Amino acid sequence: MSSEHLDSDRVISILDRVFAGHNKPMGLHEPYFPGKEWDYVKECLDTRWVSSAGRFIERLEVDLADYLGVKRVVAVVNGTAGLHIALKLSGVETNDEVIVPSATFVATANAVAHCGAIPHFADIEPKTLGIDAARLGEYLRDATDIRDGKCFNRNTGRCIKAVVPMHTFGHPVDIEGVLEVCQRYNLIMIEDAAESIGSMYKGKQTGTFGKAGIFSFNGNKTITTGGGGAIATNDEKFANFARHITTTAKMPHPWEYRHDMVAYNYRMPNINAALGVAQLEQLDTFLKLKRSLAERYAKEFKNVSGLIFFTEPESTKSNYWLNTLVLNNEQSNMRDVLIKRGMESGYSMRPLWLPLHTLKMYQTCPRMDLNVAENLSMRLINIPSSVFLGKGHS
Ligand SMILES: *Cc1c(COP(=O)(O)O)cnc(C)c1O
Repeated sequence: MSSEHLDSDRVISILDRVFAGHNKPMGLHEPYFPGKEWDYVKECLDTRWVSSAGRFIERLEVDLADYLGVKRVVAVVNGTAGLHIALKLSGVETNDEVIVPSATFVATANAVAHCGAIPHFADIEPKTLGIDAARLGEYLRDATDIRDGKCFNRNTGRCIKAVVPMHTFGHPVDIEGVLEVCQRYNLIMIEDAAESIGSMYKGKQTGTFGKAGIFSFNGNKTITTGGGGAIATNDEKFANFARHITTTAKMPHPWEYRHDMVAYNYRMPNINAALGVAQLEQLDTFLKLKRSLAERYAKEFKNVSGLIFFTEPESTKSNYWLNTLVLNNEQSNMRDVLIKRGMESGYSMRPLWLPLHTLKMYQTCPRMDLNVAENLSMRLINIPSSVFLGKGHS
């Protein structure tokens, strides 16, 4: 056996040492409620303000806008709904195309499909796990024409309207590179920051670079509202419209039900927002814990042959939402062996999502060459990453 062989016993014994005394089985990312969650949710029950109106919804919007340094935040029922609305308000319509990475959670492409549009898949780069801006630029140069200021796919004849970069596992994508490509090809950028709350690119929060950024507060994300999401933007009009269309387009009136367009019931309920306000109060503490777990992992896996621990890209600060091992190319056949060993030993592990262009509903979608996404999908393994696992490492 070569010295490069990946020893799954060694990986498990590292986890046993790092997590001695912890309860098992442990999930990949479990929620954590050590703050005012209990008080705020109780207040909702006591006052019976549990639904689509109440003080916590607006407070979450204001507090999150403040945290991110954007003008406005609109709270919604989940991240997918946020993406759907952000794309719709960007003018994405039936038969348009929207560029999304192939290596992302299925929601990114689903939101495009919910607009009646077609996902157009872009490849990722190994150092960020996000869209490869340089290769996307070259691809668009060869595959599109600009007419009347609009970008057309030369093959399908359809208009490409937007790009949705995603910050994989919290690691910031080359957002300036993607933005530059968007400017060159007249594409709107909507950031899928569902996984990257609190992550920074050159000192600026992810989710604040494009026309709008969306966040998810699903139960497995860094902070959670049970289910929930948010749209962040510096465009007041965009925010007002987002607020209107996510609340059934009801016109303000003391008693009359007057709605001025076909709209959605996408408002985050107060009881969920109550959780969110409490979680956001602790975000900076959570981020420190997550960083300390990632640093411990980095140290422990430093000299393990056959894999590396993925660390934040240059000039960025990741929230380390999901910690990730990258197996060497020759070790990809060990991926499922290791995941199975992990699960049997009480440690949740997951591979990267199947590349979306391989899913049956998206197989016929346009795409650039996707060999990096295909290759990395065989080699990545997420390992336990809950916030509370960060305690006691420094
Ligand atoms: C979690 C997630 C979403 C959407 O989240 P929901 O709140 O579950 O709808 C979107 N994109 C990515 C990349 C995600 O990880």
